[in-house]
Amino acid sequence: MQTILEYSEQHKNDMKETLIRLVQAESPSRNKLLSDRCGQVLADLFEELVEGQVKVIEKETVGNQYRFTVGSGSAQILIIGHYDTVWDQATIPLREENGVLYGPGVFDMKGGLIVTLWALKALKSTGIDLTKKIVFLVTSDEEIGSSHSRALIEEEAKKSELVLVPESSISNSGSVKTFRKGIGIFKIEVNGIAVHAGINPWQGVSAIDELVLQLQKIKKLDDREAGISVNIGTISGGTRTNVVADYAEAMIDVRFTTKVQGQELEAALRSSLPFSQRAVVTITGDINRYPMEETKEVLTLFNELKEIAEGHGYVLQKGGSGGASDGNFTATLGIPTIDGLGPMGDGAHAVHEHILLGNLPYRAALIAELLERHLTYKEGI
Ligand SMILES: [Zn+2]
Repeated sequence: MQTILEYSEQHKNDMKETLIRLVQAESPSRNKLLSDRCGQVLADLFEELVEGQVKVIEKETVGNQYRFTVGSGSAQILIIGHYDTVWDQATIPLREENGVLYGPGVFDMKGGLIVTLWALKALKSTGIDLTKKIVFLVTSDEEIGSSHSRALIEEEAKKSELVLVPESSISNSGSVKTFRKGIGIFKIEVNGIAVHAGINPWQGVSAIDELVLQLQKIKKLDDREAGISVNIGTISGGTRTNVVADYAEAMIDVRFTTKVQGQELEAALRSSLPFSQRAVVTITGDINRYPMEETKEVLTLFNELKEIAEGHGYVLQKGGSGGASDGNFTATLGIPTIDGLGPMGDGAHAVHEHILLGNLPYRAALIAELLERHLTYKEGI
């Protein structure tokens, strides 16, 4: 019997061809027509390669979503991915150069979708007993906040013992992601009292002066060592130089490493009191995603991957990201989640987006062998 890696290596060219098919079907998040075409290509590939069950989750404004299933049993393993990309149609060309494939979404994350399909195919083709249900959920709106898929992802995660996310790996190194920061987006609005800046300036209340003081206080929440960043992304207010501003606002992005930090940041922001008693300060917004924390279950998963990689003569490392993925949702529910399982490459959301074609078989084997290990466990991880 062939090993999984041998099987994958043998299908190296098929992997490339299927990836090209998927990348050619461009899929900007906000273009339903194109997205649906891409979703259909993916569903066709799943049926051709894996021959499991396909459930289409129809969506009105974004591309349809897919729940692919193979294997059976009471336990479930979930794999999540998205086929939408940040690229409008015909923005960057698909091209191959010295074993490197460039193209829209090739790294984030169509390469990851393809290695997952081939991992599932390899499991079936090498005769591995699929004693658990493997659900591969592919959504269409990750790049625009996942509001059309979050509930579905959470529902499937709750039924699962672990979640694999074949999102792009860490640029150039191929390292997997064992943590991702959480994100909060807040708006601070200040209402003051407008008056003439020359005639009676002290009778007014400058919303801008108040906002400046508020932002200086908020900026103190930034703590590099603790992995907390506070970015004041936009600021606006006032009307003209000779008027004391009656309104000013700013948008703030906070990133944090633990759930507790997120809760503390939110509480600190919401409790802001005005410096000037006559100013009104309003904070809106919320924590958009809690972090994917590096728990001991996640480290166990990483160590298994590392062992598999070593068996193939590769060194696999781990890292994290300040950017979130749908893995943040599943991790927040307490389901062990490991991310960044996609192929080696670079340039997510950038014009040089690419993957290394020679790396596809190894990444497919990595996912397949991790699944294989978990198919033989009775319960839990
Ligand atoms: Zn992505």
